[in-house]
Amino acid sequence: AWFQAPGLTRLMTLLNGGGAETRVVGGAVRNSLLGLAVGDIDLATTLLPAEVIGRAAAKQIKAVPTGIEHGTVTLVVDGQGYEVTTLRRDVATDGRHAEVAFGAGWQEDAERRDLTINALYVGLDGEVVDLVGGLGDIETRTVRFIGDAEQRIAEDYLRVLRFFRFFAHYGRGRPDVAGLKASARARTQLHTLSAERVWSEMKKLLAAPDPGRALLWMRQSGVLTEVLPETEKWGIDAIPGLIAAEQALGWAPDALLRLSAITPKDPARLVGLAERLKLSNAEAIALDRFARAPKPQETVTDVAFDRDLYRYGKEGIVGVLKLELASVRGQAEGGDAKAMARSARLSSLLKRAEGFERPVLPVKGSDVLAAGIPAGPKIGQILGTLEEGWIASNFTLDRERLLARIADLAAK
Ligand code: ATP
Ligand code: MG
Repeated sequence: AWFQAPGLTRLMTLLNGGGAETRVVGGAVRNSLLGLAVGDIDLATTLLPAEVIGRAAAKQIKAVPTGIEHGTVTLVVDGQGYEVTTLRRDVATDGRHAEVAFGAGWQEDAERRDLTINALYVGLDGEVVDLVGGLGDIETRTVRFIGDAEQRIAEDYLRVLRFFRFFAHYGRGRPDVAGLKASARARTQLHTLSAERVWSEMKKLLAAPDPGRALLWMRQSGVLTEVLPETEKWGIDAIPGLIAAEQALGWAPDALLRLSAITPKDPARLVGLAERLKLSNAEAIALDRFARAPKPQETVTDVAFDRDLYRYGKEGIVGVLKLELASVRGQAEGGDAKAMARSARLSSLLKRAEGFERPVLPVKGSDVLAAGIPAGPKIGQILGTLEEGWIASNFTLDRERLLARIADLAAK
């Protein structure tokens, strides 16, 4: 099993003994109990950060103080990083970050965590240590706050989004009633959270195998409108069809395409969303491409479609096709002949789009300069006209014929 990996065993042995104890905690324990893939491995230890660094140094293990003010040191063994955090308890909070203190015991360390399923430990002996009733909740797939939901949320409002995020990934049935009620009550405080923390949680929520139910409950409790007001008029009805299509057709889950499915296709409004949530450049560009790409017509010819692919980019068109295909599939399965034909055509366009390799214009600005056109805006204009002619020729005009046009264009 993962916790018997040689690197981890070595590390835990090093951080045990001499009165110290170290246990795996959080996502790694939760996921392995659920039979799911384990991502990062987090460790909790009775050692102070300086002692962790000291023991690592004695064995030439690389230690990086990745969050030293919270007591976190990352140790790298066999190329794998392990986050080692000193046991902590909460001492103060502003609702945005919990302030923590060292010198806590295991019970206190468990109780300052958010959800019962996230507060399970495994020691070197492989035994699960459950101090807050997490094992029963793993069994029933119940996402539940440790202690009083309302109070735990008030300590850190991000926990509202974490509640829905973990429900999206691991929850069954309806969300825990106390957690849901407390989340609905706390929704007006979500604007106080930093954009980075909000987007990081939302992105993980949207990447769940099926975020549909979580989004419905978020919407129903008023939480979704607070973090994504763009979804208010648009609605989230497109999600079930998209998830069904992903599963049936083997499309990789794409958090940004899912976001695009629930937000207006309005580039100007999306700029507002990207700025508010501090999306990365690449994320903002992906969303913008989905919004700008035209909805493909069934009657489009292959060459006209290739021109669209060149102009709007393959990523945007593939995204729009997937959304469109997902929505048509439902009707097609109901036996609607028109929808079936459209679905078949969209599928073949999707195949073509996925295999599309963007051709490269065979002339450059330097060619226009070399033809005797002086440096200046004219160069770009001529190049643009050449490109338009080349696109219109379905990319068949070769370099020679394009070069031959330069003199004519310069004279205009
Ligand atoms: P994954 O890494 O799979 O997303 P995880 O459970 O490891 O899930 P992290 O965000 O890496 O989640 O946090 C590690 C652990 O730290 C959590 O399992 C939880 O016990 C605790 N934790 C993280 N964020 C909070 C928070 N805002 N409030 C309380 N406890 C938290
Ligand atoms: Mg983790």
